[in-house]
Amino acid sequence: MIKSDFHTHTNFCDGKNTPTEMVKSAYNMGLKDYGVSGHAYITAGGEFGMNDDILLKYKNELYDLREKYKGKMNIYIGIELDALGPIQEAEYSIGSCHCLEKNGKYVVIDNTEEILCNAVKKLWNGDWYSLTDDYYNLVSKVYDITKCDFVGHFDLITKFNQDYKHFDESDDRYLDSAYKAMKKLNSFDLPFEINTGAISRGYREEPYPNEILLRELKNMGGRIIINSDSHSVDNICYKFDEAVEIAKRCGFKTSWILKPEGGFREIPL
Ligand SMILES: [Zn+2]
Ligand SMILES: [Zn+2]
Repeated sequence: MIKSDFHTHTNFCDGKNTPTEMVKSAYNMGLKDYGVSGHAYITAGGEFGMNDDILLKYKNELYDLREKYKGKMNIYIGIELDALGPIQEAEYSIGSCHCLEKNGKYVVIDNTEEILCNAVKKLWNGDWYSLTDDYYNLVSKVYDITKCDFVGHFDLITKFNQDYKHFDESDDRYLDSAYKAMKKLNSFDLPFEINTGAISRGYREEPYPNEILLRELKNMGGRIIINSDSHSVDNICYKFDEAVEIAKRCGFKTSWILKPEGGFREIPL
């Protein structure tokens, strides 16, 4: 069983619980390594990201919690950055892509299905593959822009695409741009997260990225890190047993976790 989670949110951004509640819950679940990764301020839709003042308070609260849990559980103070910026600092960062800019307009791609569908109609002439091309083009630059430590929910663009409702995730028109982005990010040796967040919130039946992409990542010699993207105490380590099974099925024998002194450590699955 994996005893770590490095993608979680608190009420300093759009999470439900305080850092104290999240840390306590992680500890009670037996975690040895626990990371909080609040949303950076998001240029394209800043209503829930942390501005610099809030970020400072967030870090201070987590420094205190780290002292309190010293010797019991390692606490990591992270931030989830967005490819459209701005870039803010923490001890580690997740590189994610939640928004696109098209014809001078910002579109948040994971807000609601209705918003995304309307944007595809208006800004991408109804062509979902043109949207996914633009998405992966931005994803391919997420390390150049953010210098992140690992890649967040690589195929977030499929959030509302359960049962391939809007586009075919096995189609070459989709996969070509996804593989190109994956290859570029993997060339920096970045772990890609297996993220169970969309299952816990009822949008998808499998974690990000889907198995087609995970298999390709394995073929490329890529690395994984298993995270929940939890927004409340109930979903820390959500369905990690399932994520491990999928990873194994795709050929992965190990996963990676952060180390207190920086960098990653390989753990068997
Ligand atoms: Zn995210
Ligand atoms: Zn997140």
